[in-house]
Amino acid sequence: MDDLRIKFSIIGHPKLEKLKLIVGNQAFELLVTLWIRVAQNRPHGNLKELDNVDIALYAGWKGDPEEFVEALKKCKWIKDNGNGLEIQDWREHQPWVFFAPERSERARQAAHAKWGTKPQRAAQKTRSERMRVAKSKGNHTKAEWEEMMIFFGVCVKCEGESGLVCCDRDHIIPVYQGGSHGINNIQPLCAKCNASKGPDNTDYRLLFCEKRGIEMPAKWMQPAGISLALTSAPSPNPSPNPKPTPKAKKNKKFIPPKLKDVIQFFTENKYTEESAIQAFKYYADGDPPWTDSRGNQVRGWKQKMRGVWFKPENIIKKKGNTPPWL
Ligand SMILES: [Zn+2]
Repeated sequence: MDDLRIKFSIIGHPKLEKLKLIVGNQAFELLVTLWIRVAQNRPHGNLKELDNVDIALYAGWKGDPEEFVEALKKCKWIKDNGNGLEIQDWREHQPWVFFAPERSERARQAAHAKWGTKPQRAAQKTRSERMRVAKSKGNHTKAEWEEMMIFFGVCVKCEGESGLVCCDRDHIIPVYQGGSHGINNIQPLCAKCNASKGPDNTDYRLLFCEKRGIEMPAKWMQPAGISLALTSAPSPNPSPNPKPTPKAKKNKKFIPPKLKDVIQFFTENKYTEESAIQAFKYYADGDPPWTDSRGNQVRGWKQKMRGVWFKPENIIKKKGNTPPWL
């Protein structure tokens, strides 16, 4: 990323003319210098932690820093968002810069998928570390897994309704919540149910057996105290989370979208269903789910999708009507 956007309309724009009246004819150069430094150092356009002197240095202003920052505020080039200063409407005017961090995250993922190179993800490390801990609590063999597959035969959640070939090994209590890798914490789910599971610790094997009036082999039962009263029908939002980790607690307000919501959001905005599914899987399969490569919780998923996934190659293409920018 080594460029930024400047609108044609800046020439003669009242905001610029006003700034010229205060700081002189160098106003334009000062602004562009400020933007470039912000783009290089603070792609999200926020200036918090910077004081007036820093801002003046960014812009190359040689006069009184306080006067300069006041002038920028007065002319509405920067504003206080209650949490510190930021460049006004930065995201709207500089989307290329704003989403640069997410783009490079995506590029790393794409390179990983294409070339099998290891993405530099801290999450990757913690994932294997967590798995090591999970295995120390309990492990299972291939034969045990196959035995379970034969017993259930389908995804125990949708019971084959998704039409997808079963099955993924799902950790009933996710590994990141301290679940073990033992067979009693494993259930067969199809890819769709697995991807949309979210913070749901339901033991669908028990529901499956209860519906059919069959006994689940005792060796697959969760040890007492870990199984979470799951013999009743699932409520619309079953998440009996015994001990939320501090992280889960902090992020409890985030409700992950369903696949169909994401597809709807994409197609309403004229982006393909395939890209919606790809995006959904990327975040739903995260560890923990719905975190980005830096391990930060995705908060506004629509914003994330817009910023990272709404790109020209994902636009629905009509025959003979290629968008002019492709
Ligand atoms: Zn399923």
